[in-house]
Amino acid sequence: MSLPSDRSPAGDLSTSLNREVAGQQLSVLMVTSEAVPFAKTGGLADVSSSLATALGRLGHEVTLVTPRYRVTGSIGTPIARSSLSLGGRSYDVGFVERTLGARTRAVLVECDELFDRDGLYGLAGSDYADNATRFALLARAALELVARGEVCPSVVHAHDWQAGLVPVYARTLYARHPRFEPLVTVFTIHNIAYQGLFSPDVLPGLDLGLDVYTVDGLEFWRQVSFLKAGINFSDLVTTVSERYAREILTQEFGFGFEGIMRARRHHLRGILNGIDVEQWNPERDRCLPKPFSARDLEGKQASKRKLLEEFGLPVSEASLQTPVIGMISRLVYQKGFDLIEQAIDRLPELGAVFVVLGTGESQYEAMWQAAAAKYPQAIRVRIGYDEALSHVIEAGADMFLMPSRYEPCGLNQMYSMRYGTVPIVRSTGGLDDAVEGYDERTGRGTGFKFKDYTSVSMLAALRDALRVFKDADRWREMQLAGMKHDHSWAVSASAYVREYIRLIQRRRQELIGDS
Ligand code: ADP
Repeated sequence: MSLPSDRSPAGDLSTSLNREVAGQQLSVLMVTSEAVPFAKTGGLADVSSSLATALGRLGHEVTLVTPRYRVTGSIGTPIARSSLSLGGRSYDVGFVERTLGARTRAVLVECDELFDRDGLYGLAGSDYADNATRFALLARAALELVARGEVCPSVVHAHDWQAGLVPVYARTLYARHPRFEPLVTVFTIHNIAYQGLFSPDVLPGLDLGLDVYTVDGLEFWRQVSFLKAGINFSDLVTTVSERYAREILTQEFGFGFEGIMRARRHHLRGILNGIDVEQWNPERDRCLPKPFSARDLEGKQASKRKLLEEFGLPVSEASLQTPVIGMISRLVYQKGFDLIEQAIDRLPELGAVFVVLGTGESQYEAMWQAAAAKYPQAIRVRIGYDEALSHVIEAGADMFLMPSRYEPCGLNQMYSMRYGTVPIVRSTGGLDDAVEGYDERTGRGTGFKFKDYTSVSMLAALRDALRVFKDADRWREMQLAGMKHDHSWAVSASAYVREYIRLIQRRRQELIGDS
């Protein structure tokens, strides 16, 4: 473990920060309810393990703590086993270690009674009734590793509501423990719509008293919110794009948390997620028939052929010239499918082919299936989750549509740019931050954006893109601009490190002030 040794006053902060980013090794404890390759329901799993391994590559020591679910299987090396008490009950908890990358390890928390189940959070659309206990135990188990000296972090970084009690326990149950005194806590919101709400009756079972059930604590409209817990008890709150950090201060995007976020705005930062540039690399992607790169885009045509074949479309000179617009998405409210629904009969008039991969709410699955049956030349749909096909779509499509109502970060717009596929996005959250909108006068830009959440605006952006597509030179410039952009985790992880160090220095100054 390693608190930075520099003791410079606040005035020298930026100089010392740069030096520490360059030379110091931090120890970071991450707590997350899902992480690749152990369990995944969404982007959080990718982000938590990518951030952890990117920090490791930058030279920091990272321990990522996550549950061992049934889907995880039995992997790793046992490092400890003990009984942990929570709310007067005793749980048999095992800790299993597995290397994730350089200087990065995962510690899986085994508690079969709570985690060895078919779902991560619930089954068939309903949450497990004991989720408050399950994720309180995850938080406790992670902090026990610190208390017992198994890991000595300078930063504890918790993700989303499931890890929201981590900073609470660090500042209550463990507050007097010497290992916790210098610690700083960071909490990242990946999607503010998921708030971890429970009846206040759960509090005694979580070893928490009514002193934390306050308006500036965990209380949210007479419920306990684990998300609010994470926000109010951590030293810094981050979210996954700068634009989303601004949006969640507003009623439109705050899901009732806008007031809470406004109160914490001086402790809130937006840091855009990176993408896994190894897994998403058109030069080495095993799902593609032929590699390609910004230096040699010719292989992209082979992916387009494969994409047309996969969706049962004819492969001919004419069809290869026709623009293909890809979509890969959870088919849910957030992702803008009500706009598609309003515009569905206009899509075939655009002169493009839509290829859609997704699964989700039955109403949107039915909408796409009906559209594909009605307009088979213009709309093709695959309902399901298919990782390999998602790579072929990213590589083979000419454009990629993301009309999200809101999008904290979003990954597909970045995958698209890396594959020379021009994104068409609603300018919200990470879509707005990651995509540079096309400028007609200069020809600059990496994609097309629309502002108003209306089908009219979406159709206008689609038409703009299709018009520019006809100008092969301009189109190529846009493709190359997107492909050359650095979306790697190294950039984002460095931004987190800067924030960690800033907090550590401030904490150290507080402790010096106290002593
Ligand atoms: P969210 O986490 O809100 O679903 P993101 O864009 O952040 O959205 O991440 C979703 C990830 O899951 C992306 O990598 C996307 O390609 C992938 N994905 C979503 N649906 C499917 C699907 N049906 N098949 C394959 N991959 C999918």
